[in-house]
Order: sequence, then structure tokens, then C-alpha cells
Amino acid sequence: MNIVQLIYASQVVGTLSLDTVATILSKATVHNSRNHITGFLCFDRKHFLQCLEGDTESVNQLYHQIAQDRRHKSLTLISYGEVATREFPEWAMGDFDLEGAESPMLRHHIMGGFRPRLMDRSQALALLRDLNRIRVAAAQPHGI
Ligand code: FAD
Repeated sequence: MNIVQLIYASQVVGTLSLDTVATILSKATVHNSRNHITGFLCFDRKHFLQCLEGDTESVNQLYHQIAQDRRHKSLTLISYGEVATREFPEWAMGDFDLEGAESPMLRHHIMGGFRPRLMDRSQALALLRDLNRIRVAAAQPHGI
């Protein structure tokens, strides 16, 4: 099966609350699992950066739905295309709160605030892969 990967950035309407994120993620977990969609969502209080991967129809349909969501605006498509393998097979939708997370910001030269719509595909993917690595490591059981 062909896997399509879509990466976009958007601006939060108002200020993002963690309750809103929790609601989005709980919907995403159910819907994405059912449709074999994987991906990763990172955010601060003003911006989202999300990667969706799955079959073409499911990804297109979901992006269309997400684009109509009034909790964010000004969606910018960063990249869209077929990929050989999924980047985030671990998650129906992995997540990372960048607010106050200084180390990844410094590692990815994010100075003066997180502005994901200015990123190109390789910058966005490098950040998402790094955040995923941190999340996967945190999810591992510690010792035996
Ligand atoms: P409903 O949940 O009925 O919502 C319909 C509309 O009502 C929404 O589009 C939104 O505008 C509004 N709404 C719903 N809940 C609230 C609320 N608590 N506060 C304010 N407005 C609200 N869904 C997925 O399935 N998978 C994903 O990976 C995914 N990623 C997302 C990433 C972002 C950044 C955002 C903002 C949303 C994401 N969603 C995702 C949610 C998606 O946009 C839809 O809300 C979801 O798919 C449920 O669709 P629904 O038709 O049941 O809509």
C-alpha cells in the first residue's frame, strides 16, 4: 500500500489550553487508529505542527476535516507526498508540548518563538523526529 505523508502548520485561535489538546488527541486516537493513520502533533500555545501519514484517501479526508476545525486557522501545507515508510508508526497521534521545552528549541535553532509555518520539510521532520525520540524514550519502562 502507498503511504502518503502530509505536514502542515497552523495558528491556534486564541490561546491553546491543555484541555483542548486532550480533546483533540482523544478524538484523533480513536479516528486515526480506525483508519490506520499515524503521525505526530507538536504545539506551543500559539501554533501547531502536525504530520499525518496513511493511505492517500484517509490522509486527504482527515486533512480536509482538520482544515475546517475552528480551533486553528491559517493552515500552511509544508509538504505532501508518498513515502516508503512511516516516520511515526508508534503513534495514532504522538504529541509534544513545546511550551517551555528549551532543549529541543535550542537544538533546532528555534529562536524568538516557534514559527512552524516558516519551516521547510527537512526542518519540520528533523524537529518532529527529535520530539518523537524523546516521547518514545519516556514511554519505555525504566529498568527491570
Ligand atoms: P466534532 O468533534 O463534532 O467537531 C466539529 C467542529 O466543532 C470542529 O471542527 C471544531 O471546529 C469544533 N469543535 C469541536 N470540539 C470543540 C471544542 N472542544 N472547542 C471548540 N471547538 C470545537 N482529528 C482526528 O481524527 N485526527 C487527527 O489527527 C486530528 N488532528 C487535529 C489536529 C489539530 C491541530 C486540530 C485543531 C484538530 C485535529 N483533529 C484531529 C480534530 C478534527 O479537526 C475534528 O474535530 C475531529 O476529526 C472530529 O471530527 P467531527 O466531525 O466528529 O467533529
